[in-house]
Amino acid sequence: MCKNVAKSTFISIKWANVFSFFFMIVEILIAMVIIHNWKIRWTKEYILLNIVNLKTIILYFLFVISIPIHECIHAFFFLIFSKDRKKIKIGFDKSNMTPYCSCSVPIQLWQYIIVMIMPYVLLGFMTRFFAIVNHNILWLFWGTIEISCAGADLFIVFLALFNGEYKKRVMDHPSQVGYIIIN
Ligand SMILES: [Zn+2]
Repeated sequence: MCKNVAKSTFISIKWANVFSFFFMIVEILIAMVIIHNWKIRWTKEYILLNIVNLKTIILYFLFVISIPIHECIHAFFFLIFSKDRKKIKIGFDKSNMTPYCSCSVPIQLWQYIIVMIMPYVLLGFMTRFFAIVNHNILWLFWGTIEISCAGADLFIVFLALFNGEYKKRVMDHPSQVGYIIIN
């Protein structure tokens, strides 16, 4: 075996989507448990006040734009660590119906972990945390969607944390979800 073969940690886009689907089901179940614990009385007034009103329209709009925002957060942190704007790409892979953000500059594994986890932290975790503190059902929906969207990212973070060698330089895998270890 050749010693110079780059080691990599990745999952195919297809398996990332399969994983994300099951992850989403788990997240919806968690959200249902949280809602169950709030003991909501589903009256017309509750629905009008919390789910269908003018103020919530802004939140529905945020749902839609949060998909590109998720990728922009990856891009922002790729930029901080790579310092090379030209090597960062955001796009939409039509064949897999998946938005993506990639960076062709090697960065250290700990930096890569931060790049991968930040959309989950800022859009998913914070939103759900706010929802739980305020018993806000719309924010809970939103947080659940955002956490579900970060499923594949979290899977890679999980593998990377087990990898351990955080100072090693890694590069975004050119075609799959994950990274290649450079040195
Ligand atoms: Zn992501």
